[in-house]
Amino acid sequence: MKIAASIFSAFIAGTITASAFVAPSSNAPVAFTRNSQEVAMRGKTGLSEKMSDELDIPCDEECAMTCYPNLPESVHPGVLSGQAMVDLLEHAKENGYAIPAVNCVSSSGINACLEAARKNDAPIIIQFSSGGSQFYAGKDLDNSNYSAAIAGAISGAFHVRTLAEQYGVPVILHTDHCAKKLLPWIDGLLSASERYYEKHGEPLFSSHMIDLSEEPIEENIEICKDYLERMAKIGILLEMELGITGGEEDGVDNTDVPLEDLYSKPEEIYQVYEELSKVSPMFTVAAAFGNVHGVYSPGNVKLEPEILNKAQDYISEKLGDEAPEDKKPVMFVFHGGSGSDLSDIRKALGYGVIKMNIDTDTQWSYWEGIKNFESKFHDYLQAQIGNPDGPDKPNKKYYDPRECMRAAEVNTVARLEQCFADLKCQGILGLGEKKAADNVFGPALGGLPI
Ligand SMILES: [Zn+2]
Repeated sequence: MKIAASIFSAFIAGTITASAFVAPSSNAPVAFTRNSQEVAMRGKTGLSEKMSDELDIPCDEECAMTCYPNLPESVHPGVLSGQAMVDLLEHAKENGYAIPAVNCVSSSGINACLEAARKNDAPIIIQFSSGGSQFYAGKDLDNSNYSAAIAGAISGAFHVRTLAEQYGVPVILHTDHCAKKLLPWIDGLLSASERYYEKHGEPLFSSHMIDLSEEPIEENIEICKDYLERMAKIGILLEMELGITGGEEDGVDNTDVPLEDLYSKPEEIYQVYEELSKVSPMFTVAAAFGNVHGVYSPGNVKLEPEILNKAQDYISEKLGDEAPEDKKPVMFVFHGGSGSDLSDIRKALGYGVIKMNIDTDTQWSYWEGIKNFESKFHDYLQAQIGNPDGPDKPNKKYYDPRECMRAAEVNTVARLEQCFADLKCQGILGLGEKKAADNVFGPALGGLPI
């Protein structure tokens, strides 16, 4: 909690009104209350009202909560930023779990994430890549100057902001890899967050990743420092990449990089930690420890989570008395987790990993849901009319896009449940099991047995 409460407030106090973020006086679990009349933490801290209040959207009990039984008081349903986000990440580090960070390209994918988070009684990180953001806007839209990628990510952000509260889960809203040539995309999103902050007292996005790992380390650090300064002013966290994640994702091909670049050195991680800490403590590091994007048959690259442990020890030693009690000064992010051994994932959690990215595995689960749906109802999906029950029978209820998309969502929620379990990220909120949904439109309007 050292970093979370004290340093963060001090940094913020110097740059914006001190009342904008106030650290909670205690992070002990608070008594759970469902009294929606209670003053919301966000009200106390000067942050904006809930989205549901602002838009006057009906809100059920979980949406109306102001905090959770098991989490610091600042953590609330909906999108987190600033102190509330830092408190949640510190809670993850202290308690040895990591939050799944899932790449989404559609509202359907986002809803599957929110559903999975509530089912697992846990927080979630929803993230958009640059390509995913453009896709969210529609592939026919012109993307000169990354205009479609900017608009798409903002559109996705508002979708998440509107629905996260309804699901009753805390969400960190993040963007994934941003290489040097993509910086105008992040510039556009930061401008949007700054405008949002003026109106609401919080940024639109919680955090952004800037990946300058292909540039010399000095340039990487300098540019990250500039961005961190701009971001920390409005409570946005920076994820920076050091070393290279191998493999291929979203059009970035790192399958041929030298082997040594796939492993970060403790000295380099310290260099980053020391320089970025001068600006703000609101950063995480995606260090390379042999991680690879995508799923490949076993090859030469070996995962070495001990690299993270060595870095924590090295930096703690350098910090001396300034080192935090847990001797884990750095919050690490795990890229390329798909296909990793559970034992390696668990080791990484113990070494200060608080976020693991998930993309390849949920790409597969979404597709597999559609594949299985098609296999199951194949004979009902070949024409608008006519199936094994008769030549005049209509097939509308089978080819309604809601059916195959829902099958994809259900399969993805199941896959995510395994991710939450692997990352020890279950039962974190303390809400218990979710009661069955009260679907007023009922199964009569759509809803085949999937
Ligand atoms: Zn990555």
